[in-house]
Amino acid sequence: MDTIYIGIGSNLNDPIQQVNMAIEELGQIDDTEMLRSSGLYRSAPLGSADQPDYINAVCALITRAEPIELLDNLQNIEHQHGRVRGGEQWGPRTLDLDILLFGDKIINFDRLIIPHSGLDQRSFVLYPLYEIAPDLDVPGLGLLQTLIAACDQAGLERINKA
Ligand code: AMP
Repeated sequence: MDTIYIGIGSNLNDPIQQVNMAIEELGQIDDTEMLRSSGLYRSAPLGSADQPDYINAVCALITRAEPIELLDNLQNIEHQHGRVRGGEQWGPRTLDLDILLFGDKIINFDRLIIPHSGLDQRSFVLYPLYEIAPDLDVPGLGLLQTLIAACDQAGLERINKA
């Protein structure tokens, strides 16, 4: 069994509800069990500022699934939330699910890069991750505590789940 961390983001169609539903659905993936989920965070958008703020969270799960199998499951959940692929890279989205970490694996496939690229520079990933795994040592990148100390929290706000 591997412990995995999934990053969740949404900035369309009731983002708080999208993220709360996604947390439920992640716990229902075959061969996978939810361990913990962070609180919800509001973050300013990357890329074009001409779009709503994001709601973000991070979950820890354990899984027997293979990484690509898990990615397929996440993309199915994104589609069920009405996510349309092929838009601009950092454009608005109903649901974005990223595999941040997969045990201690470092993966460089065409479809899958782990640790997720940019993880160490994104406050909306690092701060919720820190909430549920403060002692984490990120494969190839070092201690989460050190990464977070170098990452500005500006534009990130923890909010109520409801
Ligand atoms: P995005 O627009 O951020 O949802 O990027 C989606 C693309 O990133 C998909 O085509 C995935 O195959 C690819 N991808 C690469 N690494 C990962 C990862 N660790 N988690 C999720 N998607 C990934």
